[in-house]
Amino acid sequence: MLDVYKMIEDIEQKGVKDRRVLDVMENIPRHEFVPEKVIARSYDDSALPIAEHQTISQPYIVAYMTSALVLKPNETVLEIGTGSGYQTAILAGLCKRVCTIELNENLALQARSLLKKMKIENVDFFVGDGFGGVSQKAPFDAIIVTAAPTFFPVRLADQLKEGGRMIIPIGPSVTDSPDNKDNEDTYQWLYLVKKIDGRLFQKKLIPVRFVPMVQSGFKK
Ligand code: SAH
Repeated sequence: MLDVYKMIEDIEQKGVKDRRVLDVMENIPRHEFVPEKVIARSYDDSALPIAEHQTISQPYIVAYMTSALVLKPNETVLEIGTGSGYQTAILAGLCKRVCTIELNENLALQARSLLKKMKIENVDFFVGDGFGGVSQKAPFDAIIVTAAPTFFPVRLADQLKEGGRMIIPIGPSVTDSPDNKDNEDTYQWLYLVKKIDGRLFQKKLIPVRFVPMVQSGFKK
């Protein structure tokens, strides 16, 4: 049986207790966002493969990142890496408007039609390189990056409002080589960045594993 309640329980047990976020996640059918062959595992607390060699993030990490942004209903958020659109749908349930950008056109189109089917209408979809953000919709109250760059993308932070929050994984692309297992330098870490009085303050949170944020060449 596909059990969303079990998934929510798993997330709570791992430490995310933000009711607003959990309530929205309880109402988003994760099985609609994954390919047929992994549907049985839709509500496992694990990342799963989607099309184009990408992944839908682990539900606990989705909850953790979303909760860290402390989104208010009147705010706008920018998501880098639309992927399946699962994280996008959750953000859309928590704030006024979501702007999401994805490098891979096929994924962006699929996510757009799925969210349309679900009658989620407060989302603007963009195809392109997230390193440049979405300047025509900036500034944002919050930015969530769901692919890992190897360095902090300063130009993205320019699109944060004063008081804005950004959550982002940073680190090398992870390989499964056993040599990497116990070496902290080969981890990606999640950072929470806040803009206060025009300055950026960062907090290092937890080790994570995301697909790499691909640089397709900068554009203005
Ligand atoms: N939020 C997604 C997770 C997707 S995985 C979900 O809930 O399903 C990360 C996504 O980032 C992939 O789809 C990948 O194509 C995309 N990506 C990688 N580099 C990017 C870049 N520079 N700009 C925009 N998207 C990028």
